[in-house]
Amino acid sequence: MRRLFLPGRLRETVTLTGTDAHHLGYTLRARAGDRVVVVDAARQVAAMEVTAFTADSVTLRLVERLDADTESPVALTLAMCLPKGDKMDFVVQKAVELGAAVIQPLAAVNCVVRYDAKKAAVRREKWQRVAEEAAKQCGRTMLPTVAPVRPLVSWLEEIAAAGSAGRVFMAYEQETERPLKEWLRRAEPGGVTALIGPEGGFAPAEAEQARSLGVATVSLGPRVLRAETAAVAALAIAQYELGDLGGSAEGGTETR
Ligand code: SAH
Repeated sequence: MRRLFLPGRLRETVTLTGTDAHHLGYTLRARAGDRVVVVDAARQVAAMEVTAFTADSVTLRLVERLDADTESPVALTLAMCLPKGDKMDFVVQKAVELGAAVIQPLAAVNCVVRYDAKKAAVRREKWQRVAEEAAKQCGRTMLPTVAPVRPLVSWLEEIAAAGSAGRVFMAYEQETERPLKEWLRRAEPGGVTALIGPEGGFAPAEAEQARSLGVATVSLGPRVLRAETAAVAALAIAQYELGDLGGSAEGGTETR
């Protein structure tokens, strides 16, 4: 069934306007009587029926509430240094499928792409659309957020100032001592952030800054993975170890 994310709360009757109405009415050619799954901002899920159309709105009636939470018990964030070309589209899509709640794009020293403020805003909108499409396709019960692009340096400082450095692991291909597996087994409750470098890797000064602020550098194993592979692998490993990947389709995996 088609899935829609509603910015507000579920009610007996909901009127959609703007892009959702257009998408349902024109792109998906929904007709009166069709059913859709609606997910609201509080993760409530319901089957709703299309009851009426106007030129720019669609009205839905609640048919039944569904108990269908597909969210992981672990709040996963992907902090991703901008990869080349449109690889970030792929990374956003996969991160959403793997259950990330937030995707934070970062500009690091070795990033090849550089966006001015205007371009960065346009890209972010595009990634947010990619995230929404992926969330609908894979049946998420929350809409993951793509945050605005930020410099890695100031993001690290902010994380440290907020006392959250201990929840971040930096995948660092030069790290030989600490495997991700080990870091995850000692992870504090309250969420995990995977920090992944660009194709050119992290600059040594970036790894030093991260370490000095209390972010652990970890190894993903003996092979050097491409940035996008590293992002997917790191999220999959974290979700398997702490969350619901590899669990039952009913969800409800217990957190450690
Ligand atoms: N250009 C670098 C490789 C960068 S790989 C080099 O040739 O050495 C891109 C990113 O993927 C890295 O910054 C890191 O975040 C992650 N990565 C890839 N393989 C990794 C590994 N074995 N361990 C930890 N991180 C890895």
